Amino acid sequence: MGPSQSNMDELSFNGKLLHTDYAKPDAYNALSMPVYNSAAYEFESAEQMESAFTGKTPEFAYSRISNPTVQYFEDRVKTITGAYSVTALNSGMAAISNAIITLAHSGCNIVTSRHLFGNTYSFFTATMATFGVETRFCDLTSPDQVDAAIDKNTCAVFLEIITNPQMEVADLKKISAICTQKNVPLIADTTIIPFCAFNAKDFGINIEIVSSTKYISGGATSLGGLIMDYGNFNWMSSPKLHGMAKEFGEGAFTAKLRKEIHRNLGAYMTPQAAYMQTLGLETLTLRYEKATKTCFELVKSLKKIHGVASVNYNGLPENKYYELSKTQFGDRPGAMFTFDLTSREACFRFMNKLNIVKRATNLFDNKSLAIHPASTIFGNFTPEVRNTMHVSDKTIRISVGLEEMEDLLADFLQALSKGACPLVIN
Ligand SMILES: *Cc1c(COP(=O)(O)O)cnc(C)c1O
Repeated sequence: MGPSQSNMDELSFNGKLLHTDYAKPDAYNALSMPVYNSAAYEFESAEQMESAFTGKTPEFAYSRISNPTVQYFEDRVKTITGAYSVTALNSGMAAISNAIITLAHSGCNIVTSRHLFGNTYSFFTATMATFGVETRFCDLTSPDQVDAAIDKNTCAVFLEIITNPQMEVADLKKISAICTQKNVPLIADTTIIPFCAFNAKDFGINIEIVSSTKYISGGATSLGGLIMDYGNFNWMSSPKLHGMAKEFGEGAFTAKLRKEIHRNLGAYMTPQAAYMQTLGLETLTLRYEKATKTCFELVKSLKKIHGVASVNYNGLPENKYYELSKTQFGDRPGAMFTFDLTSREACFRFMNKLNIVKRATNLFDNKSLAIHPASTIFGNFTPEVRNTMHVSDKTIRISVGLEEMEDLLADFLQALSKGACPLVIN
């Protein structure tokens, strides 16, 4: 009973999000999508069962494959992103592994950068390598290097829109133009900037990956991952999807993913997580606006402190990627920043003195979080590998939550003065 389709198109981001209809009317007119905690679904006849199992009708059969609560979450994401298809998995890593396994085959290569989320790096260089998939590292901020790294065996270019903790930004339109010209799909992990501030389709991204554990979960309530296929790639040129492309055209990737890979890997999102993440979506814009505003204020204050060697946030005009970041992600590019102290020891002392900011991994919880990436997320890599990834021992990463700016700044100042450096404010 929601707005008609034509009205839907005119609605703003939150309007679309909140007024996405259920696929079928709820039996009790529930205003929140119920959590369908059921592994399997009953059929009225053997014929109906046959038609569902052979894909002729879209009924639910088994919750590893699809589930009404999860599908509703996917439908909402589809409405706000304009994706051709959305698949919800049970973590960001499940989304990355499902997407890559849909495309990659032994003998192919993936072109990417060394500036990757730790587990993505390990998935490419350890897990995929054992199946004969090569990872080619290049500098994604240099379109020429990307162009040179691609060859006839390249099955995807993979990038993160703002790398972490390096905070590097690639020119998405330039990279996607190269990918289009070379007929290679562009996969982007956009976890760091949520849907309300960034639309992947506008930048020519073919497959978008999001760890919905972060902004979307609504405060670290649950793990989740999303794969958005924008239906904007010609899969006829893909060795692995060529056959699917003949049958499904622009839907070849989604067909391979939904009919084979995701069923076989068995990492579909749970209905409980989908319920919480649907609620999380409803407050996404509000939370993002508050957290990014606080982040920007905090960054400006920290810059004035002697002893804080450098503050890295793409929203600062002196930042190397400022202009590009502004074009792609707007004035306040996310609620995460890093800063350097004089040594690893100073970082540890600072961390140990924090009272309000939590010592924890994760991003975009409602609480602010601090982590020393080199000794934790990247702690199992050798110092040499960490160097090639530009993860410094002197860097602290902050994810800004929903606390008031004054409370956070006071905590930073006391932790800096007690732990890390003599407190001199310019
Ligand atoms: C957290 C994160 C992931 C992995 O997501 P999980 O939900 O923890 O599996 C992947 N990419 C980026 C950029 C992330 O921040």
